[in-house]
Amino acid sequence: MERRDFLKVGALAGAGALVGRLDGASVSRQVNTKPIVVSTWNHGMKCNQGALQILQVGGTAVDAVELGVSIVEKDPTTTSVGYGGLPNAEGVVQLDAAIMDGLSMEVGSVAGLEKIKHPVQVARKVMTDSPHVLLVGDGARRFAVSHGFKEENLLTEGAKKQWLAWKSGKKMKVDTHDTIGALAIDRGGLMAAACTTSGLAWKIPGRVGDSPIVGAGLYCDGEVGGCVATGYGEEVLKICGSFLVVELMRQGRSPQEAVEAALDRMIKRDAANAGKLTAFLALRSDGAVGHASTSPGFQVAMSREGKHDLLESPSRVKKKG
Ligand code: ASP
Repeated sequence: MERRDFLKVGALAGAGALVGRLDGASVSRQVNTKPIVVSTWNHGMKCNQGALQILQVGGTAVDAVELGVSIVEKDPTTTSVGYGGLPNAEGVVQLDAAIMDGLSMEVGSVAGLEKIKHPVQVARKVMTDSPHVLLVGDGARRFAVSHGFKEENLLTEGAKKQWLAWKSGKKMKVDTHDTIGALAIDRGGLMAAACTTSGLAWKIPGRVGDSPIVGAGLYCDGEVGGCVATGYGEEVLKICGSFLVVELMRQGRSPQEAVEAALDRMIKRDAANAGKLTAFLALRSDGAVGHASTSPGFQVAMSREGKHDLLESPSRVKKKG
């Protein structure tokens, strides 16, 4: 069965129908569901505004999360995502992104992508126009160019200045990480997830974090729900964070219980993680939301019924890391 056939089944199924999937699972499709978008950090507010507009006119969750995070990718004032992102140790901006469709569970991702402003859009192309899931480095760049993406300089003057200061050994406080991860449910009750990042500032060239790795930086199974992660990608990878959260929800934990259990596992593995801000944001297929971080400071943008709110997220430890 082709992916478009799943969608056809969904469209014909009507209100409250179950859509069958190749894996035997059934994704519930509710017509006229109230759309919802949630995303990470305060830059999520911009993401959600664009994404909710798409959903309100009947657009799909996949289109909504792609467009929403693209708004943040092109914003040079966000120094942790896309254009204007802080570079690696050699002054090169290397971007990671992924997108996952909760109906078909198709995924596309790119890692270590250079010179392309919208890695999430390239990830979508990997999902729809290639037989693969993940393209990296120069191959990802060439794939992007062959699909019409323009090569550009992504290192803004501001980011270059900060990199030069870091290189000269200057002590400075910078936002060294802050991925945008977004989850949405559309009017048809279908879900999707996306995340995109420039990764940790001053990373070793070639370093890839959790964001483009399915099951780590994001996971979305429309039968259950989805999750996105932000923070120390290496730690999220070690516990397959987003997959873990979704599987805990599958076993009956609420989204809040699931994200907290995943963070506690991370802290149990290494107590030092309590002091490093890492966070999960989960959305269950019925619209219930959970979010928490290891240490204080995480925020979640939540948009539903035309309202946009920025929420302070609870943390597992009270001391700021
Ligand atoms: N999780 C991302 C990474 O490790 C960083 C972030 O959240 O900003 O690449």
